[in-house]
Amino acid sequence: MGILSTWRIYIFKVIKMIYRQYAKKVHKIYSQLDRQIESFKRATGLECLDPCGQCCLNPHVEATILEMLPLSLHLLGTGQAEFWLDRIYERESNTKCIFFQNSPDTPHHGQCLFYNKRALICRLFNFSAIKNKKDRWLLVSCKRLKDSSSEKVIKAQEMIDNGLDVPKMNIYAMRIFNINVHLGSKYYPINMAFKIALETVLMRSKFFFRKMAS
Ligand code: SF4
Ligand code: SF4
Repeated sequence: MGILSTWRIYIFKVIKMIYRQYAKKVHKIYSQLDRQIESFKRATGLECLDPCGQCCLNPHVEATILEMLPLSLHLLGTGQAEFWLDRIYERESNTKCIFFQNSPDTPHHGQCLFYNKRALICRLFNFSAIKNKKDRWLLVSCKRLKDSSSEKVIKAQEMIDNGLDVPKMNIYAMRIFNINVHLGSKYYPINMAFKIALETVLMRSKFFFRKMAS
């Protein structure tokens, strides 16, 4: 094996190690967020409908590459990366999330195939708040929940107004951004973010080589 190939393998190993560290940091943020969401749910009684998954059908769900790193590394480590890469190449990026699996019993409903590895917005939606121009934290809730549990949604907003701890969307987005600006700042349609993340951990991404050269 030539010295250049050995050097290239070494570089790839180091870079993969760096990606693992990034994924670990993302995972840590997800774990903290999940705990905060659990206490928010307990305090407000808010829960997603079951069965549901309607928000996953929205082709405008967006994520950063960094958010999809834990899932991409998981697929790589479990030998599923090539399978999912082929599937994502067959799929238009602006369609519903590739990980949404329709339920055979309840049409138009379904679930996430990799729920524990889902992106940031998939965790935050319904159980977080954004600040409006008047500095008020507003609950971000979906139409289905507003229609089915309007009293709980109104009550939750009152509780937030009175100081209830609620996950703040921009703070979590900023924490992801702070892990790595290149991978955590730009938002893509979720299928596209996943495709780039998977290509990146497989070292096949144009993005990866561009960053390596820069
Ligand atoms: S956020 Fe709304 S649409 Fe999405 S799963 Fe929960 S209840 Fe359903
Ligand atoms: S990653 Fe999972 S939770 Fe997020 S949009 Fe896709 S199917 Fe839905």
